Amino acid sequence: EVEIPEDHPRYQSLLTRHRIEEGVEKGITSKQGLIAEGRGESFDYLLGEETLPSADEAELAAAAQLLLAEHAVLSMNGNVAALVPGEIVELAEATGADIEVNLFNRTEERMQAIADHLREHGAENVKGLTADARIPGLEHERGKVDEEGIYSADVVLVPLEDGDRAEALAEMGKTEIVIDLNPLSRSPRTAAIPIIDNIMRAVPNMTAHARDLADASREELEAIVEAFDREKTLEEAEHAIRDV
Ligand code: ATP
Ligand code: MG
Repeated sequence: EVEIPEDHPRYQSLLTRHRIEEGVEKGITSKQGLIAEGRGESFDYLLGEETLPSADEAELAAAAQLLLAEHAVLSMNGNVAALVPGEIVELAEATGADIEVNLFNRTEERMQAIADHLREHGAENVKGLTADARIPGLEHERGKVDEEGIYSADVVLVPLEDGDRAEALAEMGKTEIVIDLNPLSRSPRTAAIPIIDNIMRAVPNMTAHARDLADASREELEAIVEAFDREKTLEEAEHAIRDV
């Protein structure tokens, strides 16, 4: 364990990097995941390493959308599992969502390592290992999902997802929530609710919003989702990056 002093000016960034390193060592995160981390860090740097007001609005809308869902699923890959395992378990508890492991480069070892890691962080039911359904339009291995998980979900949270899969899920008619620091990436551009923020900040903030909304009526939740403007969120993030 490397000790990172909390008063270090870039504490959060170093912590993120350290969690990914550990993820690779534990067999949770792939080498591709290291590259994704680097891309994410560079965008976070340009965004000032803080949650934009428009991202907070997206996180509120996402919390409302998860609470409205008939069957919501939070999709986990190797980076998500390394960065926010306990935080995802809390979000699942606050919204009644399921958790499903879904890997771009699927291997049984990595599926198991991630499922075990999530259970160590309190997850009771981890989906994704049954893999008895396919997302139409994706190559065999890439399209594997659980029939009782992502396949039948109406709302899916797909953080740090690649563009092809995000598009294929949207084409299945799912309401997609994407967390991605790059507002130009295809994944957030296909999402009903794009969240341009670091997953380390986004997930705990979504949970806080979900807890605040615990007693809200369906009408109140629907009003929040309807008031959300996806184009504005994408534009504001792009402006924040370009007008530094
Ligand atoms: P494109 O969508 O344009 O085809 P890509 O999806 O192939 O690009 P990847 O590197 O595979 O690009 O995807 C990783 C994505 O995850 C990047 O867009 C990156 O900004 C984002 N990302 C990485 N780390 C984080 C993080 N901690 N929080 C949020 N997003 C992150
Ligand atoms: Mg992408």
